[in-house]
Amino acid sequence: MKRTLVIVGASYAGVQLAASVRELGFDDRIVLLGDEPDAPYQRPPLSKGFLTGSFAEERLPLRSQAFFDEENIEWMPSTRATFIDRERREIELHDGSRIAYDHLALTTGARVRKLDCPGASLDAVHYLRDLRDAKRLAETARSTKRAVVIGGGYIGLEAAASLRQQGLDVTVVETESRLLARVASPWISDFMLRAHVQRGVAFELGRKVVALHDAYGVVSVELDNGTRVLCDLVVVGIGVIPNTELAADCGLHVEGGITVDACARTGDPRIVAAGDCASLVPHWAPPGGRVCRIESVQNANDLAKTAAASILGRCEPYRAVPWFWSDQYDLKLQMAGVNSGFTDFAVRGSVEERKCSLFYFRDNTLIAVDSINRPQDHMLARKLLASGAHVRAEEVRDPAFDLKSLVNGDAHALRGAA
Ligand code: ADP
Repeated sequence: MKRTLVIVGASYAGVQLAASVRELGFDDRIVLLGDEPDAPYQRPPLSKGFLTGSFAEERLPLRSQAFFDEENIEWMPSTRATFIDRERREIELHDGSRIAYDHLALTTGARVRKLDCPGASLDAVHYLRDLRDAKRLAETARSTKRAVVIGGGYIGLEAAASLRQQGLDVTVVETESRLLARVASPWISDFMLRAHVQRGVAFELGRKVVALHDAYGVVSVELDNGTRVLCDLVVVGIGVIPNTELAADCGLHVEGGITVDACARTGDPRIVAAGDCASLVPHWAPPGGRVCRIESVQNANDLAKTAAASILGRCEPYRAVPWFWSDQYDLKLQMAGVNSGFTDFAVRGSVEERKCSLFYFRDNTLIAVDSINRPQDHMLARKLLASGAHVRAEEVRDPAFDLKSLVNGDAHALRGAA
């Protein structure tokens, strides 16, 4: 008898999962549903090239329609799952219809955290999560001069860079005392602050927005110290909230995200989860480590591959090295590994020329590398981290030392000779 795999959420994780189960030999029915009307598309360009106009809409789709046809994946756009009936193994849709499943994958992603202050629903307020948000923002940006960006995380900074490049005056308001506080080291925060200031972006750090006022067509952004910043356009990038309601409502465990094990399995043997909505104890966490959610394209794709294997009965624990990237102005920032709790770092390359990498160590073990305009370092870092190669800070600082030799396995020979 034919089995049915239903995948709820048609973005990176959902699409990858569908592709991977097919690749692994799942020949039965695959239904991929999502509440967006657009064919699954790339999200990172939305705050970067798509806003500046250098990345055309035609390039956004993740896969062509031909892919879905050839792989016999039933893609259902504008379709919202409203309830999971685990007993009957059925999923209920917004129109009341039901689809029976043998396997269910939750790749529901995350939604933007909304600003919660008086004036938050003014027309001039924009968010940046889906294609419709990005189109509306790009359109508005063309006819406005001044923008306030609320939130100094990656989305906020990428939006700030894109708007500045289009000639708008930009002010970024961030509640923390430094940029990117959630994810980046203070060194990177500082570097990015300088990069933006040099290009004319203004900052209000350690400040909260208390209200937005409509002052005869102009927006006045009121901060907690009484300052008012005037603008025509507000972009809010204050983080996301995982879409876990479907899982919680049917009794699955939710802790920060839909909780899964290292094989992307929930507590129900028929249900897996992957992507921004899923939380797990990462393999780099110390013993007894807590679950966390990782918001990245890499994590969505790799955890989806793990989930696909689990559907086919093969538990292949998630071991991928996490990596992220951000493009702002002419700066390509690439991060490999997770630097939390680092005790030392070493810089390689030239900070002045904006071509450098930071290697982070915790108790002499390499845990992460941030590269600025050094893509070759980034690729090497992923290999070093995956292989667990022993790297020393002094080797990183020595431009003559060939770090590649540590991946190729002749490090011992080199060290032995030293
Ligand atoms: P994203 O990846 O979507 O940029 P992050 O959580 O990394 O999300 O960044 C969001 C940033 O917004 C954080 O630096 C956080 O301190 C900041 N932030 C959160 N709430 C507010 C607020 N009300 N005003 C200004 N900044 C905020």
